[in-house]
Amino acid sequence: MTARTHDIAALTALGAVVLFEPLRIMTLSTALAALLANQIGGIAPDIDQPTAPLWRNLPAGKYFGKIVDKSMGGHRFLTHSIIGVALFGFLLHLLLVFIQPLMPHINIGLVWWAFIIGMSSHLVMDSFTKEGVPWLLPIPGRSGFPPNKSWRITTGGPIESFVIFPGLLLVDVWLVVSHYSHLLVLVHNYIR
Ligand SMILES: [Zn+2]
Repeated sequence: MTARTHDIAALTALGAVVLFEPLRIMTLSTALAALLANQIGGIAPDIDQPTAPLWRNLPAGKYFGKIVDKSMGGHRFLTHSIIGVALFGFLLHLLLVFIQPLMPHINIGLVWWAFIIGMSSHLVMDSFTKEGVPWLLPIPGRSGFPPNKSWRITTGGPIESFVIFPGLLLVDVWLVVSHYSHLLVLVHNYIR
């Protein structure tokens, strides 16, 4: 899937978890950091392709992108597996614990979960594409949904642009409308 679809899918997944789970008190900086972590998680697996937005926007990013692509085993390999999510989760945990003293008001546990939700949503979304995802690495082979490859969609194709992307937007609108009072309670009473 394209980066913009992954962005909105990550946000949708985070929104669903926040609204369906019991609310938690958090600082505004935690909420903002969690949103950012969620969006980064949503596109993180695609750092294994040299054309990823991250590499395009960095000076000499093209070259770094190629190095990361090779070290991750090529596109849709390690970063698109459960073991890859666990590895990124472990590294992010180390990073957050390291920088926690610089940002004492941030609940790093919630930020970590927001990233994992974003990254997991990426694997789920890519599972709907023809290429599939190597969920069970090191067990070889890619799988997807539906299991029959020819029924899956093409990345960047019309189904993604005109059905999946607007569909996710509609889900977001539905989440906000159907949980509006819950959302108000979150904003007024739980974010401080
Ligand atoms: Zn991907």
